[in-house]
Amino acid sequence: MSIKIENLTHVYMEGTPFEKKALDNVSIEIQDGEFVALIGHTGSGKSTLIQHINGLLKPHSGKILIDGLDITAKSVKLSSIRKKVGLVFQYPEYQLFEETIEKDIAFGPKNLGLNDEETNKRIKRAMKIVGLDYNDYKDKSPFELSGGQKRRVAIAGVVAMEPQVLILDEPTAGLDPKGRDDILCNIANLHREYNMTIILVSHSMEDVAKLADRILVMHKGSCILDGKPSSIFKEIDTLENVGLAVPQVTYLSRELRKKGFDISDEIFTIDQAKEELLKILKSKIKG
Ligand code: ADP
Repeated sequence: MSIKIENLTHVYMEGTPFEKKALDNVSIEIQDGEFVALIGHTGSGKSTLIQHINGLLKPHSGKILIDGLDITAKSVKLSSIRKKVGLVFQYPEYQLFEETIEKDIAFGPKNLGLNDEETNKRIKRAMKIVGLDYNDYKDKSPFELSGGQKRRVAIAGVVAMEPQVLILDEPTAGLDPKGRDDILCNIANLHREYNMTIILVSHSMEDVAKLADRILVMHKGSCILDGKPSSIFKEIDTLENVGLAVPQVTYLSRELRKKGFDISDEIFTIDQAKEELLKILKSKIKG
């Protein structure tokens, strides 16, 4: 299953003084099972792009083919897109509304027209994926939970629709470190064990470096860089020019290299930095 975005352009409030071209001729292809991070400064077009991928917005021109189906065609029903593409909005917990967690997670699968038995199976699977015990939590109110747990319920609601593509818009925003790690772990799990295609919108270069196979950099409605983290994070000047940064450990390793340390220029995660620094320390001790 692939996503083909072809020459996508979107203009808000066309023909008014507030007209804004939010996407400008964007073409991207995403393959089945990829983990793609979408980064870019605020206003660069990330939200507009992901809302096209799940059919919430229609383009001014261009199209999106998912599994060969042109989801931008007028005749395509939103429900058939929802089966393929799930979108977790920013702060999705604000959209929880049912009196129990079970009912909240059931909302999506029921809307897809699934029967009670299948819906129940999916609720159990989704709760397991996000690390909430079904028996302990099913009858609780989502409003009794901590911020991180609420977000997990909201993500489970989308996961229960079992989409092939899951898009998450800043899923860790506003969470404490533990809540953040839990969510990231769930997302990595969905990708690894269920082979879900993941599109992660994030401001955290650390999260992106740890999880993504590929990074797309948006700027002023265009995709200006597309590649593996190892090549994107070498483009420090370009990233900084568009208001972005590289992971902190990448800056650290660059400073160390300038000071003459023989350290790799491919350090993007804390684990890589730890390994490389230990290697240097060991060679110094031996020397
Ligand atoms: P990002 O998600 O990267 O912050 P957006 O896709 O939200 O970027 O916005 C891209 C551009 O479109 C921005 O200039 C923004 O102000 C504008 N924009 C976004 N949504 C609307 C809207 N509903 N009406 C008018 N302009 C919008």
